[in-house]
Amino acid sequence: MQDEVLIVGGGVAGCAASIALARRGRSVTLIEREPTPRHKVCGEFLSGEALEDLHELGIHVASLGAVSIDYVRLAAARRAAEAPLPFPAASLTRKALDTALIAKAIDAGVRVERGRSVQALGRAASDVWQATLDDGTTREAPTVFLATGKHDLRGHARPQDPQRWVAFKMYFRLAPKQAAELAGASELMLYRGGYGGIQPVEGGIANLCCVVQQRYLARSANRWGNFLARIQQDCPHLAMRLAGAEPLLAKPIAITHIPYGYIRRTTENGLYCIGDQAAVIPSFTGDGISIALHTARCAVASYLAAEPAPLFQAKLRSALQPQMRLAEFAADGLNNSLARAVLPFCLRVWPGVMRVTAKLTRIAQQTAVPAEAVAG
Ligand SMILES: Cc1cc2nc3c(=O)[nH]c(=O)nc-3n(C[C@H](O)[C@H](O)[C@H](O)COP(=O)(O)OP(=O)(O)OC[C@H]3O[C@@H](n4cnc5c(N)ncnc54)[C@H](O)[C@@H]3O)c2cc1C
Repeated sequence: MQDEVLIVGGGVAGCAASIALARRGRSVTLIEREPTPRHKVCGEFLSGEALEDLHELGIHVASLGAVSIDYVRLAAARRAAEAPLPFPAASLTRKALDTALIAKAIDAGVRVERGRSVQALGRAASDVWQATLDDGTTREAPTVFLATGKHDLRGHARPQDPQRWVAFKMYFRLAPKQAAELAGASELMLYRGGYGGIQPVEGGIANLCCVVQQRYLARSANRWGNFLARIQQDCPHLAMRLAGAEPLLAKPIAITHIPYGYIRRTTENGLYCIGDQAAVIPSFTGDGISIALHTARCAVASYLAAEPAPLFQAKLRSALQPQMRLAEFAADGLNNSLARAVLPFCLRVWPGVMRVTAKLTRIAQQTAVPAEAVAG
């Protein structure tokens, strides 16, 4: 049996596209390699645009326990400064978000196959794509949405990441005083070789998510415990937050090789690349989920308008380029040792800079989300 659309990957972008297509009467199969949603490396910050798109899909993050994030705090060396966010924002674990998205896709009539991984994607005929699954069976469709996130499919890979970024995520139960000080804030901490964010998520716990270049991680003998101790030395604010904290996972979740700054140049007919397969914005912006939702929405609109996929991909690239360039420029600043040394002295002007940067590294907002939909 052949569906109109096959979606590979059931994370944010794949689910969002599948829901939108099914609601418009298209027959859709979505293949997700994990049998059930699990923790993913992500800061779990939901920007205003992400909240709008989720609201549009019928996902009400408040009812899932999302925590409202009202301001952002930057900590470098011994100083910290904060600024209110210029848009509504929230945080929610990826496990909760991905569970809700998959459930919504099933409700919308998407045929969801979980626990099956696509091993290869090629042409069965000039106008039919064929996906080969890990059990050797195949699925065919004239149109495929590629939404495998950070995982590349053979033959459709993104370029290597020259900086060899490594990312970690760990949940902590903070000491009561630290949890109270973190309430409502997303904190960005700078250290040698990278940066990290800590923010509250549902269930009264905090998510620490950090990125570091491999050559700096090597200085900690590639060990999480050593690395965590080193970044607390570099950033005493983080040491203060983690004093008396209880780690909640046996070990951190980690990923490697994140091609920050990547925007896909082109694609083939009938193959729409969305989410991290379309573009990978530096993590400090907290905008990856928003971009995943945005690219899914644009790809669905393009498909429904019978626009060729290569044209969609080229237009998407032009639209995302200014935001990506600015985010890359800001990320270079955060990763630059001179900038890190100077930043503490500039923190008095930082709130203004932070507000402007936060605004400029967003994609345009379409509609307003009711305040009660953001967080309970
Ligand atoms: C360190 C770090 C911190 C971040 N913090 C934030 C943040 O705070 N806020 C934010 O908005 N963004 C953040 N991001 C970015 C955000 O996580 C991603 O941009 C977003 O998840 C991309 O969505 P996606 O749908 O493309 O991929 P995903 O949500 O990762 O989904 C891809 C899905 O495809 C499945 N899959 C993979 N390969 C196959 C296969 N072969 N067959 C079948 N299924 C497959 C996977 O199991 C997965 O479920 C962060 C990223 C990093 C690295």
